[in-house]
Amino acid sequence: MATVALVGVQWGDEGKGKVTDFLAARADLVVRYQGGNNAGHTVVVGEEEFRLHLLPSGILYPDKTCIIGNGVVIDPAVLFEEIEALTRRGFTLARLLVSERAHLILPYHRLLDAAEEERRGRGQIGTTRRGIGPAYTDKAARTGLRVIDLLSEDFPHLLAEAVDYKNQLLSKVYGKEGVKYEEVYREYQGYAERLRPYVTDTSLVLSQSLAEGRHVLFEGAQGTLLDLDHGTYPFVTSSYPTAGGVCIGAGVGPRAIDYVLGVAKAYTTRVGEGPFPTELPGELGREIRERGREFGTTTGRPRRCGWFDAVIVRHAARVNGLSHLCLTKLDVLTGVAPLKLCYGYRYRGEEIREFPASLSVLRSCQPLYEEIPGWTEDVSQVRRLEDLPYNARRYVEKIEELTGVPVALIGVGVRREQMIICHSLFS
Ligand code: GDP
Repeated sequence: MATVALVGVQWGDEGKGKVTDFLAARADLVVRYQGGNNAGHTVVVGEEEFRLHLLPSGILYPDKTCIIGNGVVIDPAVLFEEIEALTRRGFTLARLLVSERAHLILPYHRLLDAAEEERRGRGQIGTTRRGIGPAYTDKAARTGLRVIDLLSEDFPHLLAEAVDYKNQLLSKVYGKEGVKYEEVYREYQGYAERLRPYVTDTSLVLSQSLAEGRHVLFEGAQGTLLDLDHGTYPFVTSSYPTAGGVCIGAGVGPRAIDYVLGVAKAYTTRVGEGPFPTELPGELGREIRERGREFGTTTGRPRRCGWFDAVIVRHAARVNGLSHLCLTKLDVLTGVAPLKLCYGYRYRGEEIREFPASLSVLRSCQPLYEEIPGWTEDVSQVRRLEDLPYNARRYVEKIEELTGVPVALIGVGVRREQMIICHSLFS
């Protein structure tokens, strides 16, 4: 292993937290490259559960350098909450680095997020209302404030300008009350000094580390179908969870990425609105949700559950250039029989194999399935592929065949060690 980009290939929540944690053991640096505290990872270490929203999962190891890259948007209140929570549990954060180019989430972003969702009414995107979208909007509109701005003497003036504009937007467009400059200024001045020790040019640190041959893990949040360009627009996030996002969000060139690992759940889930062809709205969907504990880490929202969709994963394989798949939560499907795998869609009498750009087409797609008999044996203790029940192995092989991507890792439980390594990719 030299550098690995780990990306979600469905609608997020694929179990990337555990896989990142597993791979972080073999990395020297772990880097978050996009998203904000709308993402959430759950990592179980021993008897303890950790919920991380902004901090890279590598933070749970004492010897890893963890980077929050320039592509991430940072809510300092949330960052310090997480830092404090980990400090209380005995972790040191001396190896945390924050990009000076990362953009900040400010209180008016949260207000705008909520106001905009309200305005959409029935067409809501289902954002977490944490201000992530509006912070990225500001970044693209060139009206954002970056970490480096917070540390500069221009900050009072930059903030005053931003607050004035956002308050006008809030009151004149949305009829909402704005924020008070003095309050925001005082709060953020407090963060500035606490943030300063962590802030650096993280792209430079990465480039030096890569030159020294250090191992780097780029940790994606969300998933391919939430990508601003390659996802189910407009039900997407405002950043680039795909492998291409690594270059932009971490400040490295494409040749810095040796290997792209796509994380896919053994079934499919989706939070929020939008079409979902293989959704199981009935009892079976509910059963999978309960067994797989499919409730959002960040919001607690129940996730919609459905069959594995190979059309989605093939799309993800192409746009990410996947080297291998990590299949998580195979254990959740124990006892479900028969199992179905979607290999294509029927749309207006025609079979389609590629994931459509149009949501109205997607909404009218009927999934086409192959069936596999299930298995009833407990797989949570299995550590070798050959020890999986025959039908579980067939299920994995069928996924490889339908997606065209070999499976390297299989998750069979929530713990770090509950993983089957099919290909020893990491030296
Ligand atoms: P992420 O956003 O992709 O990291 O996904 P989450 O952390 O929100 O959701 C993954 C959930 O699945 C967490 O509660 C994990 O502990 C759990 N999980 C991850 N891998 C496995 C697995 O192989 N089996 C089971 N049963 N649970 C898993």
